[in-house]
Amino acid sequence: MSFERSPTAENHRIPLNDGNNIPLMGLGTFSMPKITPKNACYNAVKIAIDVGYRHFDGAWVYGNEDEVGRAFQEKIADGTVSRDDIYYCGKLWNTYHPPEMVRPTLEKSLKLMKFDYIDLYIIELPMAFKPGDVIYPKDENGKFVYHLTDLCATWEALEACKDAGLVKSIGVSNFNRRQLEQILNKPGLKYKPAVNQIECHPYFTQIKLKEFCDLHGIVIVGYSPLGTCRDSTWVNVKIPSLLDDPIINTMAAKYKKTSAQVALRYQIQRNIVVIPKSFNPGRIKENFEIFDFCLTDEEMKRIYALNKNERYVELLMWRDHPEYPFDDEY
Ligand code: NAP
Repeated sequence: MSFERSPTAENHRIPLNDGNNIPLMGLGTFSMPKITPKNACYNAVKIAIDVGYRHFDGAWVYGNEDEVGRAFQEKIADGTVSRDDIYYCGKLWNTYHPPEMVRPTLEKSLKLMKFDYIDLYIIELPMAFKPGDVIYPKDENGKFVYHLTDLCATWEALEACKDAGLVKSIGVSNFNRRQLEQILNKPGLKYKPAVNQIECHPYFTQIKLKEFCDLHGIVIVGYSPLGTCRDSTWVNVKIPSLLDDPIINTMAAKYKKTSAQVALRYQIQRNIVVIPKSFNPGRIKENFEIFDFCLTDEEMKRIYALNKNERYVELLMWRDHPEYPFDDEY
């Protein structure tokens, strides 16, 4: 294990390259708005805070930041947590990449949260869309309307938000090596990305991109750590369900744990932050109970060997975007 101290339920923060730190375990909050009952996210965040979660992964585009914010405000007001205990990651959506739109967009999230800063703000995807409030802009033929922005200029606008105290740490998401290098090699770079949030789990271990990020002190936040849901409208369901994997299930039985807990434990032992989403009280609790067992080196190796190098979240509908990130080797 690469921790100086083993992470515990109470303290599982790891350092970032800007002097801040991030809890290894967080709650994902994305759920398809059309099929998610109102207040499901609000209730989940409140339950999670009671269970012990302090890190929450959200985005303006998820359409439920108001619910996340309301849950935070109530748990702060009732004295369960203070603002400083909470770690919130928000995301800059594709239609707000032009530098002059970055700060006002972050401020929209701050207003929904009723916070004067958030802990982490990341560029959600390297692919810019036509700027404006239409989330998925399309032309009269139903084709997505893209936009060309300079990722480095967007990054400079994030740096300015950090300097203004609106966000503690800044990072990126779904960036491949080339796109990370573009930022890292930018003349006059003020802050390196603190994190790269990418799909990562035992079937998609991201070994090369992890090596590259380690070299530059960039922490990986692994999304879809349980292999996401099985919604074929946006998930590649040709890949078998991660949680049904026989090897992971054998290990789970050994430790009297579930396959989900083993999949999450594997990631935190690699120093990868996990943000499993659940709005179910039992599973929210289950996913947090990963600090009382440890996989052996041999078991870690067996899980590494499950890598299929395939993504559940392919975003194929944007494959013709010039910055589509997933065609590069890594
Ligand atoms: P995930 O966390 O791997 O899986 C979520 C699915 O697993 C849900 O259907 C959930 O259902 C179920 N689940 C949760 N705990 C379980 C357990 N213990 N046993 C069995 N099933 C369980 O997938 P994800 O939502 O795709 O990823 C997590 C978070 O990452 C998102 O919520 C979002 O915050 C972030 N994300 C970011 C990006 C990006 O582009 N940056 C992309 C995707 C996701 P229930 O709710 O019913 O429990």
